Amino acid sequence: MALILDGNRIRDQIKAECLPRAERIQAYAGRPPGLAVVLAGNNPASQVYVRGKTKTAAELGIYNETITPAADISTDNLCRLIRSLNKRPEIDGILVQLPLPKQIDERKVLLEVAPEKDADGFHPCNAGLLATGQPGLRPCTPAGIVEMLKRYEIPVAGRNAVVVGRSNIVGKPMALLLLQENATVTVCHSRTEDLASVCRTAEILVAAIGRTAMITAEYIRPGAVVVDVGMNTVTTRAEAERVFDASRLEAFDRRGSLLVGDVHPGDMARLASAYTPVPGGVGPLTIAMLMRNTIEAAERRVGLC
Ligand code: NAP
Repeated sequence: MALILDGNRIRDQIKAECLPRAERIQAYAGRPPGLAVVLAGNNPASQVYVRGKTKTAAELGIYNETITPAADISTDNLCRLIRSLNKRPEIDGILVQLPLPKQIDERKVLLEVAPEKDADGFHPCNAGLLATGQPGLRPCTPAGIVEMLKRYEIPVAGRNAVVVGRSNIVGKPMALLLLQENATVTVCHSRTEDLASVCRTAEILVAAIGRTAMITAEYIRPGAVVVDVGMNTVTTRAEAERVFDASRLEAFDRRGSLLVGDVHPGDMARLASAYTPVPGGVGPLTIAMLMRNTIEAAERRVGLC
């Protein structure tokens, strides 16, 4: 039986560790850690994500505010808003919820976030610190995955790790973090030839692709640890039949859609020695790591570390 890596359990541990750190900041600096979330436009999925983030922040005693500029805000005005948040002493972390409205130059906006307040760890300055192995704020999803592997005592050093996906927010930082943990890392992408063969070399396989259950049995080395970052929604019966077993098909029929990762769930459960389920694997870790980043940023800013 494969070990199911329970993201909810690790999330709760990380949150429980954040609470006393937030209290210590309050006691030392006379104020709680502070997080500002910038939510531009009316993307319903983003609104749900932001509510999850601010709710968790409130639970942990992190002061939080959500700023909701109109969907037609200009890049210049959004940059101005970020600069004003950079100057506010009670704000330790700034998060710009992506995707931004179409007219916005996302790269320009993310560059405005002060690196020491970059709760998402996306600023090139923090990316550079990660690439050169120096302390800095790390992107939440891959940092959460490393945290999970450590807490489940899954050995990483010396093992072959394959990361499928090379985005700046998941794939690339994931590869760098695994390298920092002394794995031998291969990064794959849409131009990789014979992806299945490369994936089968993986003792640790991370899929961060955004393609519904693309990673099937022929990609998975028996006994591999499989981390499924993908979050895709299955909406058609034909796709549901390809992806789900009878019990999940029933749930699909009831609800009309279901969440699935980038890895075929049945193949993963059958072949992996340990794996992250979708939902309940990687997803819960991201918000917890965002809270930890905010607290870390606050500790540095008030002089506690
Ligand atoms: P992204 O920016 O779209 O990047 C996808 C990557 O996958 C790209 O590097 C792309 O290669 C590669 N790719 C696409 N099709 C491929 C194929 N057929 N074969 C091999 N590689 C392929 O996506 P992302 O932001 O990294 O997110 C990836 C997935 O993780 C999405 O499902 C997203 O929803 C999910 N996600 C989950 C969380 C969470 O908290 N659980 C957080 C973030 C993201 P190229 O570079 O060559 O185009």
